[in-house]
Amino acid sequence: MSSLDATLQAGLDERHQQHLYRQRVNVASGCGSALEVNGQSLLNFCSNDYLGLAGHPDIAAALKAGVDNYGTGSGASHLISGHSVAHQQLEEQLAEFTGRPRALLFSAGYMANLGLINALVGRHDLVLQDQLNHASLLDGGRLSRADFKRYKHSSLSNLQTQLEQSSASRKLVVTDGVFSMDGDVAPLPEISALAAEHNAWLMVDDAHGVGVLGATGAGIVEQQNLSIEQVPILMGTLGKSFGTFGAFVAGSEALIETLIQFARSYIYTTALPPSIACATSASLKIVREEQWRRDHLNLLVKRFRAGGQQIGLQLMASDTPIQPVLINDDLRVSEISQQLREKGVMVGAIRPPTVPKGSGRLRICLSAAHSEQQVDQLLEALESVGA
Ligand SMILES: *Cc1c(COP(=O)(O)O)cnc(C)c1O
Repeated sequence: MSSLDATLQAGLDERHQQHLYRQRVNVASGCGSALEVNGQSLLNFCSNDYLGLAGHPDIAAALKAGVDNYGTGSGASHLISGHSVAHQQLEEQLAEFTGRPRALLFSAGYMANLGLINALVGRHDLVLQDQLNHASLLDGGRLSRADFKRYKHSSLSNLQTQLEQSSASRKLVVTDGVFSMDGDVAPLPEISALAAEHNAWLMVDDAHGVGVLGATGAGIVEQQNLSIEQVPILMGTLGKSFGTFGAFVAGSEALIETLIQFARSYIYTTALPPSIACATSASLKIVREEQWRRDHLNLLVKRFRAGGQQIGLQLMASDTPIQPVLINDDLRVSEISQQLREKGVMVGAIRPPTVPKGSGRLRICLSAAHSEQQVDQLLEALESVGA
């Protein structure tokens, strides 16, 4: 064995021994309320397709029409020749949707977060992040060379102490709107007040809030009625509720122009295919107009929580479609998810290091694509495997 492979294999073996080895499943169907895996149909409670739009025929038709107009690839980065009229229109629609002057498309949420944080802070600055923030935010903070600190999950007093201790000229506070692994919502009015008091800027990653929260699905800023002064830097993704792909940042003219000039993950990458922008515009229309999707989703969340309490599941304080079920033993998480799969139900098995040691969990994601009966089937399966 080569030295490369021998060294790598040792790392892989260690991963196995820790029971942390990850494997992919090959899904033969599109993303819907059920997935086809190895010839078996599984109820899908692990996708982030909250509104059930990933398989919507109108969005697929818009994608196809986009391909007919623009072909398959954008051919270049946005700053060369990759920025199409379709991208531009979608940016204008997203700005209007979020109530911000401008919006900017990125190729993925991961890239948006890296580019954004790095365009805003550098050496001698401070980035303060919730300890449960998404990995892409944490990576963005580390890469920035700013002083990178974490505060205790949603702890205002800990955030305040750390803000008081800093004399950095630029201070950036970063939080998820809805936390990806817990499903709870950040106390944004209070965080934004603290940030303002200490002359810090607030950035909110609303990957799990857009589409789901707020009267028109504009996310946590709509639900909590937060102005651009309160949340000057808003990020959202398009691969979850929107059922397509990509991400956006919404904010002021100066913010967006700064990103166009300085965000390296914006500048040095090929623009999304224009057809994806066409599809996302179609999706945005449905997100805004079809309130029944959010109503149905909320009904399913209530049904799941009520049923889960009855059968003694360890639920967390979440009223979003992310409904974790805590399993006391981290090693049991994979076992239980495997048993669920045998019963025809697929859920995410989340273990350390994605979550802290001892807090392994099943991450259940509800979607407007589910029926009440499917949620009941999920509850029955959870009960039968002793979750
Ligand atoms: C999914 C997610 C991202 C990454 O977005 P992608 O478009 O999948 O790269 C960023 N932040 C949060 C909170 C997420 O859940």
